[in-house]
Amino acid sequence: MALIDIRQLTFSYPAAAAPTLHGVDLQVEAGEFLALCGVSGSGKSTLLRHLKPALTPHGERSGEIFFDGQPLGELSERQQSQEIGFVFQSPDDQIVTDKVWHELAFGLENLHIPQEIIARRIAEMASWFGISQWFDRDVSTLSGGQKQRVAIARIFLKNPPILILDEATSALDSVTEAKIQRAFDALAKGRTTLIIAHRLSTIRAAHRIVSIAEGVISEC
Ligand code: ADP
Ligand code: MG
Repeated sequence: MALIDIRQLTFSYPAAAAPTLHGVDLQVEAGEFLALCGVSGSGKSTLLRHLKPALTPHGERSGEIFFDGQPLGELSERQQSQEIGFVFQSPDDQIVTDKVWHELAFGLENLHIPQEIIARRIAEMASWFGISQWFDRDVSTLSGGQKQRVAIARIFLKNPPILILDEATSALDSVTEAKIQRAFDALAKGRTTLIIAHRLSTIRAAHRIVSIAEGVISEC
């Protein structure tokens, strides 16, 4: 049984002339690394946002999405937060606190994890993504690419089995992106991963590539 099972998903934004997603069928197995391609405006973000109910856009929808055999909408907030790590394209959409350290610790404090374990995990994750030197900085003073590195480090701290990245490295230069990608590939091993990316180097680790054009999905 697929871990994520999307069946005949059709979705229209309010007042849109035509659906953004047309009868999308997509099954993702546990542990699979899937890359989603398509030109700007083809519906990539709209599709991925359907995989986390807290982010699902408002509009008219038909079809079904199952998570591990259970309708996705039945997952509790806590399950959603623990199971599915989501990184947006725009780093400013996901910053919730002031200092980089707080930004990293935020989700963990909510899970009531002891402080010393939080500190150890953050130190380890920060070294993967080269962000330790920014702990005391205000997140607002970081560049877009630096914010993206913090955002990617942050999802791994919660250790979610599913990772969804929507152009999460778009503000990085290609040398930094390659470094972050190596860290990401190592940490993502064994997890179910869905990414939207444009550079070939970013999707080289993918097991499967699917493309979306005008809301219709096809295997590459
Ligand atoms: P992609 O991520 O592939 O660039 P999106 O999923 O963001 O594409 O957008 C697909 C289509 O849906 C585009 O035509 C876009 O204009 C439209 N769209 C995206 N978000 C909204 C929204 N909140 N309200 C109305 N239309 C939207
Ligand atoms: Mg998008």
